[in-house]
Amino acid sequence: MDCLEAEKKIPLFLENRMDEKEIRDFVEHIETCPECREELAIHFLASEGVAIIEEGESFDLDKELDERLYGSLKKYESKSSLWTGLWMTEGIAILIIIAIFLYAFL
Ligand SMILES: [Zn+2]
Repeated sequence: MDCLEAEKKIPLFLENRMDEKEIRDFVEHIETCPECREELAIHFLASEGVAIIEEGESFDLDKELDERLYGSLKKYESKSSLWTGLWMTEGIAILIIIAIFLYAFL
C-alpha cells in the first residue's frame, strides 16, 4: 500500500468499513509511515477525539489511536480483545469503590 492509497482508506478505517486484509495492509503502512500516521491521527482526533473530550473524559491521542488500530486487527484474531480487559478493570475498580464506601459508612 502506498501513501495515496492509505490516505484514501482513512475514512473507511474510521467508519470500520474495511475487510481484514485491508486493515492489515493499512496498519502495516501506518506503522512504517509517520506522515500517514499523522494524517490518520488528525482525522481520528476530528472524528472521535472531540466527542470524547466533550464528554469530559481524558483523551490520549496516541494511545487511543493505537487501541483503534490494533483493536481492529485483534477483532479478527480473538474475541477476548483489549476491551474485555478494560471492562474487567473497570468492574474491579467499581467494586473497590463500593467496598471503601461501605467501610466508611458502616
Ligand atoms: Zn504513507
